[in-house]
Amino acid sequence: MDTVFPPPPLPSLAVIGERARFPLHRIYCVGRNYAEHTREMGGDPERSPPFFFMKPADCIVEDGGEVPYPPATEDLHHEVELVVALDKGGQDIPAERALEHIYGYAVGIDLTRRDLQAAAKDKRQPWDAGKGFRHSAPCGSLTRAAELGHPEGGAIELRVNGELRQSGDLGDMIWKVPEIIASLSRLFALEAGDLIFTGTPAGVGPVGSGDRLAAEISGLAALRVAIGPT
Ligand code: MN
Repeated sequence: MDTVFPPPPLPSLAVIGERARFPLHRIYCVGRNYAEHTREMGGDPERSPPFFFMKPADCIVEDGGEVPYPPATEDLHHEVELVVALDKGGQDIPAERALEHIYGYAVGIDLTRRDLQAAAKDKRQPWDAGKGFRHSAPCGSLTRAAELGHPEGGAIELRVNGELRQSGDLGDMIWKVPEIIASLSRLFALEAGDLIFTGTPAGVGPVGSGDRLAAEISGLAALRVAIGPT
């Protein structure tokens, strides 16, 4: 195809034990999916339907990468999350069939400009400026579900400069992965290459230039990123 300028590179993720990379389509994120985090954000953790927002696929930063401290914020927050990678799309996917659409899992960090998100909430404006900025989606290498199975529990943790900041269990998700896929696929036509960030446990907080973030979920490859200068 002739293009009027060179097209941008296709965002992708490494896969543990595979030479081929996982090409990315979209990044969906779930809001408030752990009761304790919902409370720390001032919400009511009753089981109201899950809600979603998106990040552009080129926001990915891989393991070992650096995140330049983003512009327009003084309150950059970490949110460690289980990331689900789909290799089969669909609409109206029943929860009972949802796992068949999953290629693998990774640990990710939903970096958030919390001050911009809070201002958007106050004004009933969209969250994009708080959530969808460049470098806002660090994500580790994928582990294939064919090797790992489908984790329903296990530790999810984030350390900043070695200090434990977030510590939860995947079993405490309000909406489980099959339910998330079922709900999301009623709103959007899911595609192979989609990622879903499934929400963060309690303990979110600020990071600054020079901080080293280490995110871990039992059974998955760890994710390490550093916050750089602006
Ligand atoms: Mn999040």
